[in-house]
Amino acid sequence: MTVYSGPVFDMAVNQFGVIANHLAIPMDERDRLLLPKRAITISCPIHRDDGSIAVYEGYRVQHHLTLGPTKGGTRFAPSVDIGEVAALAIWMSWKCALVGLPYGGAKGGITVDLSTISKRELEALSRRYMQEMIPFVGPHIDVMAPDMGTNEQVMAWFMDTYSMYQGRTVTEIVTGKPVSSGGTLGRREATGRGVAHLAKRVMNQLSINLNNATAVIQGFGNVGSYAALDLQRFGLKVIAVSDHTGALYDKAGLDIPGLMQHTAQHGSLAGYSNQLACDPATILTMPCDVLVPAAMERVIDAETAQNLKCRVLAEGANGPTTPEADLVLEKRQDEVFLIPDILCNSGGVVVSYFEWVQDLQQLFWEEEEVMRREYQILDRAFDTMAARAKADGISHRTAAMAIGVEKVRAAKTTRGLFP
Ligand code: NAD
Repeated sequence: MTVYSGPVFDMAVNQFGVIANHLAIPMDERDRLLLPKRAITISCPIHRDDGSIAVYEGYRVQHHLTLGPTKGGTRFAPSVDIGEVAALAIWMSWKCALVGLPYGGAKGGITVDLSTISKRELEALSRRYMQEMIPFVGPHIDVMAPDMGTNEQVMAWFMDTYSMYQGRTVTEIVTGKPVSSGGTLGRREATGRGVAHLAKRVMNQLSINLNNATAVIQGFGNVGSYAALDLQRFGLKVIAVSDHTGALYDKAGLDIPGLMQHTAQHGSLAGYSNQLACDPATILTMPCDVLVPAAMERVIDAETAQNLKCRVLAEGANGPTTPEADLVLEKRQDEVFLIPDILCNSGGVVVSYFEWVQDLQQLFWEEEEVMRREYQILDRAFDTMAARAKADGISHRTAAMAIGVEKVRAAKTTRGLFP
């Protein structure tokens, strides 16, 4: 019995079961590895613009404290519940361990539909959320970052709120801040950049000519837009993109900088072009070389997996592929090269780690240094994942997660069980 439930949490449990069986982890060790160490639930009351009071529920789950502080994003979305947040925290743990960061995983969020609140209300809600979390977070306890529905501005409000209570500026309490407030160069681009870098690497491995290649992106927020931008820079045509308002298609290749300018101004792709509009339901199964799901969980089910027509599936989002779809993809390994989420989108937490280190040291790096080190870590993790998949005859996802779980398990084993 656990307090966590829901389809996303079930998916994290199911995936862990596959890994635990593969690694032959004894039954009495499994709960210790899987169940989150702490879960915090809060209510955040704010004054609405009309003077009334509204209360929003918020969460933070800290998965394990074995390797250092916990680290993870904050999601503001209607779907947010304790099960979803716990699953995302668990995935963060395997991700941080896979790429070798001294963190456990965490995640948090507020159940809110951002289209229903004003900018002032968003600021009030962000500040109240951080204020309620102060007893449970800290630069050496739990460090937040952005995720769906949050951005640099929200991180600046978090940092300012925490700092006001401490009576001094504590930039290292969150990452993904604006560069003007202690953020690092290259964090905004980091996740999408990493996705594009790994996709390019795989295309080179598969001898796909980048200049004749095409990409399709689901989700045009932070991750999707910067992945699209770099893929286009590498010579690919980005033929389709989508967001929660619709989808656009152009076989000659979409103008990614133009789309980014439009979304920065209008908040979504809506209104960009009626001529280029296409059915968002067709996005995932369009023929292309690289498909980047960069929106939300569980969008690729078994049926969609069977119908994928991409050569490379570069998972920008967390948990976009269901365990049932994974079974299909395992059979299609020679047709679709999967770069699993915990590797593919790990550039974000890698550069968040750099931001934390720079804030702690008050010594800031050039962007080239940030990028060089990000790619170095991603390439090393990719090599380890690929070698493990080959050696054990397992899927890329199983290999990536097995490496992550193994590292956390090794740390728990050597530290022992207190008291
Ligand atoms: P974001 O809020 O910046 O963008 C999300 C995008 O998804 C928006 O364009 C939104 O319109 C779109 N979207 C939402 N519902 C959709 C739907 N039903 N169909 C199509 N598009 C839809 O969020 P983000 O930070 O880019 O995060 C996207 C994904 O990447 C999430 O799964 C997140 O957990 C993951 N991720 C983010 C980071 C990061 O650094 N931001 C790092 C690792 C993983």
